[in-house]
Amino acid sequence: MNKKILVTRSSMPSLDEYIEEIKDLWDSHWLTNMGVKHQKLEEQLKEYLKVKNVSLTTNGHLALELGIQAMKLQGEVITTPFTFASTTQAIVRNGLTPVFCDINPDDYTMDVTKIESLITDKTSAIIPVHVYGNICNIEEIERIASKYNLKVIYDAAHTFGVRYKGKGIGSFGDASMFSFHATKVFNTIEGGCMCYQDTTYAMELLKLKNFGIKSESVVDVVGSNAKMNEFQSAMGLCNLRHVDEEIQKRKTVVERYRKNLNEVEGIKLSPIQEHVESNYAYFPIVVDENKFGVSRDEICERLKEYNIFSRKYFYPITSSFDCFHGKYDVHKTPVALHISKRVLTLPLYADLSLDEVDRICSIILDLKK
Ligand SMILES: *Cc1c(COP(=O)(O)O)cnc(C)c1O
Repeated sequence: MNKKILVTRSSMPSLDEYIEEIKDLWDSHWLTNMGVKHQKLEEQLKEYLKVKNVSLTTNGHLALELGIQAMKLQGEVITTPFTFASTTQAIVRNGLTPVFCDINPDDYTMDVTKIESLITDKTSAIIPVHVYGNICNIEEIERIASKYNLKVIYDAAHTFGVRYKGKGIGSFGDASMFSFHATKVFNTIEGGCMCYQDTTYAMELLKLKNFGIKSESVVDVVGSNAKMNEFQSAMGLCNLRHVDEEIQKRKTVVERYRKNLNEVEGIKLSPIQEHVESNYAYFPIVVDENKFGVSRDEICERLKEYNIFSRKYFYPITSSFDCFHGKYDVHKTPVALHISKRVLTLPLYADLSLDEVDRICSIILDLKK
């Protein structure tokens, strides 16, 4: 049997490097609660991400959930159903109503021409997602947000390190959430952060991630517990030293995929966006069964026979989740529905060899009818 290839593989420093980084924890006995490593990682990330304020959390989801709470949003939030469960759930868990906007058929981010018709007097924010590393139409979202006085929080979980016109992608909108989950381009095992323009939100999040505690005797907001601990921070400090190299390796893998699958009838690749320095986070293909001859599901199954695991990501769209009991009409976002039934993300990680990429592509191409 061939070696198992999963859709992703977590980046790790050498064991020696990690041990070196955590050694002093045995002196300090300070394991969490915004310790030295937590503070150091926040500083380094501020620089790396080119953002003003960084607040680290134990995962990306809680950064988003508490980030929304910090802004005290009300009523309705315009968002996309073509995302990971987290985005929609963070909105709903804040007692807000998600209003689903459709996506572009080419880069899968929010279709900005459809936002204005969804705005009502209850709308308080737009929460778009930079999908697979493709960035949203930032200028247009900013124009609409300022015209209607709405907050903008980006789910930037897929875009660690991405630059747009030379600026850090987390420096746009009012805030951006990054995820440092094990499967992401940069990981702290589990982890994440919120980046803010306005320092008052960063102060609020500091309380919210620590039970709303303002000072020893004052708790003035109902918070949660979402602190990133020192072992996670240590992993981050190590991985950050290697992340540029990891992104370069991902680039080589992506370029090989593009070379092999470019201009195959029935397989659509993500566009290469202008003014964007990519992080090569994912490699999605969209399969048109009528032109390619077999469906996305058949490709996924065939790869499994070779011990290769791709993912139907994002499928299903979040608005169709059972937990929402049919509350949202999925046909109001036809493009998102269409893409979710045809998209497949192929294995991609820094150490995936080019031979393995070739093998994956030839298994796919052999299916073409
Ligand atoms: C990974 C991810 C999240 C959640 O991040 P966690 O760190 O796993 O909590 C949110 N949104 C998107 C689009 C993601 O891919």
